[in-house]
This record gives sequence, C-alpha cells and structure tokens, in this order.
Amino acid sequence: MQATIQFIAPDHYLVDDLYTSEHKIVRSSIRDWVNRSVKPIIEDFNEKAEFPHHLVKEMGEMGILGPFIPQEYGGAGLDHIAYGLIMQELERGDSGIRSIFSVQTSLVMFPIFSYGTEEQKRKYLPKLATGEMIGCFGLTEPNHGSDPGSMLTRIVDKGDHYLLNGTKMWITNSSVADVSVVWAKDEKNIIRGLLVEKGVPGFTAPEIHGKWSLRASVTGELVFDDVKLPKENLLPGVQGLKGPLSCLNSARYGIAWGAVGAAMDCYDAALRYALERQQFGKPIGAFQLQQKKLAEALTEITKAQLLSWRLGTLKNENRATPQQISMAKRNNVEMALNIARETRQILGAMGITRDFPMMRHMMNLESVITYEGTHDIHLLITGHEITGIPSFI
Ligand SMILES: Cc1cc2nc3c(=O)[nH]c(=O)nc-3n(C[C@H](O)[C@H](O)[C@H](O)COP(=O)(O)OP(=O)(O)OC[C@H]3O[C@@H](n4cnc5c(N)ncnc54)[C@H](O)[C@@H]3O)c2cc1C
Repeated sequence: MQATIQFIAPDHYLVDDLYTSEHKIVRSSIRDWVNRSVKPIIEDFNEKAEFPHHLVKEMGEMGILGPFIPQEYGGAGLDHIAYGLIMQELERGDSGIRSIFSVQTSLVMFPIFSYGTEEQKRKYLPKLATGEMIGCFGLTEPNHGSDPGSMLTRIVDKGDHYLLNGTKMWITNSSVADVSVVWAKDEKNIIRGLLVEKGVPGFTAPEIHGKWSLRASVTGELVFDDVKLPKENLLPGVQGLKGPLSCLNSARYGIAWGAVGAAMDCYDAALRYALERQQFGKPIGAFQLQQKKLAEALTEITKAQLLSWRLGTLKNENRATPQQISMAKRNNVEMALNIARETRQILGAMGITRDFPMMRHMMNLESVITYEGTHDIHLLITGHEITGIPSFI
C-alpha cells in the first residue's frame, strides 16, 4: 500500500499565489515524477539500503540537475525559488533522493561553475547535468566535522602535479561518484578545492554500512594515498574556508525547502488516516488530541513555507545571508522531524510500518539535522549574529 501517492499539498496561507506559473509548472512536473518514479520504489530501496542509480539518470533526463546553472553549461537556468520547490518535492519523496540531488547541484556543479576554469566547466557540467556523471563533495574528515578548518588532508606542489594525501568521511555519493570535489590544505595552510576523478591510482572510496538513516543514499569515505593530480584539477577561483562554506550555503538553502516536503508528506498521510480510521465509533480525527497534532503540524508547515518563500526571494536578489539560511535550515528541519514523530503517533501501530512514510522520514531527518552544519552550530551562528560574539570557535 502506498498511502501518499494521492498526496494533497497543504497550503493554508495560499502561498501558491506567491509563485509564478513557471514555478508551478516545475513543481508539478517534479511532483508527478516523485509520485510515479520515487514513491513506488523508495521503501524497497530504503529497506535494502540500495542506491537507486537509475533515478539520477531520470533526473538528468528531466533537465533538473543544476537548476540554477546557466543553460550553456547544461543547467536549467531556473531561479532559486524553482530550485527550492524541486527540493521540496524530492524530499517529499525521500531525503536520500534529495541528498543525491543536493550534492550534485550545490556541492559539485556549483563550485565547478563558480570557481572552475572554462575547460573544467565544459568538461564536467554538461555530464553532471544529464546524470551521465555523478559527483561528491569531500570536506568532513574522521576527526574534523563541525571544525573543517582544522582539516588534515594536504596537497603538495610537486612542480608538474600535486600530491594529495588524507581521508574524508561521511561523504554522500562517495563510492558512486565519477568526480569528487575535495577540499585540502596546501603548503601555506590555505584550503584549496580539487577535482579528483574515479579510478586514479591511490584513491579509494569505501562505503559506510549500517546506517539507519538515508539508506537509499550512499555514504562513504574518500581515501587519498599519494594521489598524483594534474595541475589543471585545481579549482583556481577560490581560496580558504569560504570555498566550501559557499557551497554549503547553497545546499543548506535547498535543505530548508526540502524539509518542508518531508513534513508535508507526513501531514498528508496522517490527515488521510485520521479521517478513515475509526475508534470508539468515530474517525480518530474527531478526537481533540488528534486534531491538536494535525493543527500544530499545519501551523508549523505554513510558517516554514513562508520562511522558505521569503528566503527564496532574498536569494533571487542575492541578498540572502548565510545567517538567514542557517536559521531556515535549522527551523525547518527541526519542524519536519517533530512533525514526523507526532504524525506517526496518529497512526498508532500502523505508523511504525513501511506502509506509511513517517518512520523513514524520521530516520532520514536525523541525518539532515546533523549534516550541512549541525542543529547546534546553526543556533550558535544565530547567537553570533545577535551578540557579535562567536561562541563556537
Ligand atoms: C548521512 C550523512 C551524509 C553526509 N554527507 C557529507 C558530504 O557529502 N560531504 C561532507 O563533507 N560531509 C558530509 N557529512 C558530514 C556532516 O557534515 C558532519 O557529520 C557534520 O558536519 C558534523 O560533524 P561530526 O559528525 O564530525 O560531528 P562533530 O563535529 O563531532 O559534533 C558532535 C556534536 O558536538 C557538537 N559540537 C561540535 N562543536 C561544537 C561547538 N563548538 N559548540 C557546541 N557544540 C558543538 C555538534 O553540534 C554535535 O552535536 C554527512 C553526514 C551524514 C550523517
């Protein structure tokens, strides 16, 4: 049974009126694709902890990978609200599928487009846009997560090439990636971005097994043991932590939208169930305690929809600050996780099964609340902005 294919999107404040017809057309095509291609298979892939490789190709065929990348490099040339709505629909399907898309778009295509040479852009972006190539982003290390500035991965200039050594950990798409955007320090301790292709000698990408979260998405390590890289694999356009942080900013923006999709899916499935399931001779939706859960969920979804829309307009005007993005990512992911937990209870025992999406969303959102800056760190970013005093460095 696939309870949510009949999905009806909650829109209590008529937020749809704020979107253009292009936004709605994009959203409607992704919504149909998620209903057709993701929903029917996702529970199986999640249960088997398998990467649905074919979906990347399908996303490429739809032309949505790298939605804000200009068309001359294979992107769709859409605005940031359209990007957000794509993320919302994908995460309504599954956070793992949204993660594959986020990494490809914000963490791989974005840095190549923003900091790469013309040759790098022409070589990689069109293939990443069609899904012919998959990318990954290596920043986190085994001993440096929230503090990436202390990374140990190093490049040494050997004249005609660089020598790369180090280990990256918890990397989405690692073992399936054809190209990795890797952040490493040079001899002057400056963080630089490099492109590492699959199969170069000394490079391995072992998968991490045993995750109870994002099971339909591959996570693993990137291990570099004296990897020789041609000089032209350096991304010349950026130096320092601002390189990876600008990519994370783009990805966090998308997560703020995506989490709303997971919450909408849980709400929709719970509402449907509450109106059908009878106890004590009435639908359980007639009981005040169940109405409270649904009313609070709708209120929080509505607030998050408006927050995302406003952030999108600021991003389109190039005025969205990293601090505003932090606040939205933090708020919306916590909101979605709470709604997944509360709506699961509305379903009683049925809520723990794979017939309904809440448990899967809940487990997925435990990663989403940790990656791309933990929930704590995003709060401290807001604290820093309010007081002017950084409390986490
Ligand atoms: C499924 C998954 C996919 C991922 N994909 C990628 C990827 O593609 N690329 C990539 O580079 N990384 C990826 N990550 C890594 C992710 O970004 C890190 O897990 C995250 O940044 C946190 O780092 P950590 O796990 O080392 O936790 P730590 O940094 O060790 O933090 C542990 C706890 O301490 C808290 N803490 C740390 N410092 C402070 C402080 N100063 N003040 C208060 N509290 C603090 C944190 O909030 C957290 O609760 C992924 C992670 C997961 C789970």
